[in-house]
Amino acid sequence: MKKTIQQHAPLIQVVDDDLATRLLMRASLEKAGFRVSEAQNGLVAVAEFEELQPDAILLDVMMPKLDGFDTCRAIRRHSNGHHTPILMVTGLEDLESIHRSFDSGATDFITKPINWPVLNYRVKYMLRASEAFYDVIDKQKQIQELAFFDHLTGLANRTMFKDSLELLLAESATEESQLAVLFMDLDRFKTINDTLGHHIGDILLKNVAARINSCIRDSDAFNRLDKGESKNYISRQGGDEFTIMLPRLINPEDASRVAQRINKFLAKSFKVEGHEIFISASIGISIFPLDGTDAEVLMKHADLAMYHAKEKGKNGFQFYKKSLNIKAKERLSFENDIRKAVANKEFKLWYQPQINMQDGRITGAESLSRWNHPILGEVQPSDFIPSIEELGLIIPFTDWVIRQAGSQQLDWLKSGIRPIHIAVNISSKHFVQQQLPKKLICAVKENSLIPNSLEVEITESVLAEQSGETLKVLQDLKELGLTISVDDFGTGYSCLMYLKNFPIDSIKIDRFFVKDIITSPQDAAIVRAIIAMAQSLELTVIAEGIETKEQFRMLRDMGCDIGQGYLFSPAIPAEDFTQLVLDDISFNDVA
Ligand code: C2E
Ligand code: MG
Ligand code: MG
Repeated sequence: MKKTIQQHAPLIQVVDDDLATRLLMRASLEKAGFRVSEAQNGLVAVAEFEELQPDAILLDVMMPKLDGFDTCRAIRRHSNGHHTPILMVTGLEDLESIHRSFDSGATDFITKPINWPVLNYRVKYMLRASEAFYDVIDKQKQIQELAFFDHLTGLANRTMFKDSLELLLAESATEESQLAVLFMDLDRFKTINDTLGHHIGDILLKNVAARINSCIRDSDAFNRLDKGESKNYISRQGGDEFTIMLPRLINPEDASRVAQRINKFLAKSFKVEGHEIFISASIGISIFPLDGTDAEVLMKHADLAMYHAKEKGKNGFQFYKKSLNIKAKERLSFENDIRKAVANKEFKLWYQPQINMQDGRITGAESLSRWNHPILGEVQPSDFIPSIEELGLIIPFTDWVIRQAGSQQLDWLKSGIRPIHIAVNISSKHFVQQQLPKKLICAVKENSLIPNSLEVEITESVLAEQSGETLKVLQDLKELGLTISVDDFGTGYSCLMYLKNFPIDSIKIDRFFVKDIITSPQDAAIVRAIIAMAQSLELTVIAEGIETKEQFRMLRDMGCDIGQGYLFSPAIPAEDFTQLVLDDISFNDVA
């Protein structure tokens, strides 16, 4: 917006029907260092205004066709002509003209006969004032940029987006047209930020913003809009969240097409300072007027739909549904309950016996947590563990589990029961947060556990990350005397390499394979191969989910070391488990 007065000599347009006056004005102004362009009447002046963009105009009042007043008005009506300094040249003492000049929007006036040196100064003063004026406008713009645009990506910010959305909603209501709000959140962005650093994260966000921008602007839904007005239709809400509004939607499917397009555009890798980064987004869509009529509700519903898209497996989109709202309310209160439960240690640790397959005696237990919700009753670990992880509470939770297991071992020891090996499940989230070894060391020390009777169960995905830090954590655990087993083996990556590279003691064959081992020769072959492989790596093999005698016998014959499953016992409270150990039963009798 700022005029480039410093870069070029200012251009003054002289509008006068009298050739002699024009020539004199040109001579005088050029001598003072201005550039001059002439127009012989008002029509020409208005016609040339757009192309010339003069820095100031000297406008004669008395002209045929279009007089000075009408010319002035026409220029003021022009989109770039609101602030151009216009100096009216009026007759001597002609108060009526001075008056009308003011009314038609002139900046200043000068009377004939013209005093040339004065004219030059008049023009200079006027330009100085206008420069100061543009400075103010510039500053205003800067302030506006700060207040309404996201400094990182240059997109609209939350405030600007909401304001624009409100305006458009009012328009859509009058036009009776539909509008979509898209709420997108990048998948796994936090991991990228945590592992590669904020600097890379910021650059990635910038590049993602640019890609969304170009993707949206080229889309059909956007092509129908006026490009100028659509500037504020894409925003960064903060973090890795972006929102988009699509007004004048012909049908809601157009919004899903845009969502698909965004993910197609994002699928190509980003190269940031030597790193090749792959990213996807989950997108929620709400439609005006179907899913809400005001900006806040539509945003909230698009946000909910986005969560739903995440749940459904990321890299996709979901439309808002009323049922999501109910689900969200339930989830919110469920989450509050979980927070309280973790703070108040409302969980219980139950123990499922692990059996030596040769003599049928109990060798240890897997600890499995249980939560008795005041209203919902028994909640499955598969339902509350992911929420605990999402809420960032897994560290205090595991800390509790370990302490609980430790004090249980101590109780057994005190009451003269032989040492019982306990396995605890460790969420993969611990390996991102790096606090596990410290916490484990504290728990072990404070409860004076016998470390080599504590086992941690990790999942294959932890090893699949193949990071040096994971290796370090596992080595630290080994040094403490703990044993490490790989849970749910066979379901994820099942790569031998992982097992060779990490200090693993045992693997637990997932119950998915055990389930059909009798009826499916393929599953039997897989289990046989896993056992053979484990034996060659000198790993202990534990089979999960043994429910029948046939499964037990087959696994024993295949060389499986330890078994766990409902055939022997489900997870049970500590007292019941203690009784089993005291009875010293052999499950060989069961099988
Ligand atoms: P997991 O570690 O694979 O635990 C084995 C699951 O299989 C347990 O389910 C157990 O009750 C069940 N199970 C045992 N024997 C049989 C059987 O013969 N047949 C069938 N159908 N199922 C059997 P549960 O207790 O519901 O736990 C589910 C998952 O939740 C666990 O899978 C584990 O990943 C997680 N989990 C449980 N407690 C904790 C915990 O304290 N911390 C963490 N991080 N995760 C836990
Ligand atoms: Mg387990
Ligand atoms: Mg398991």
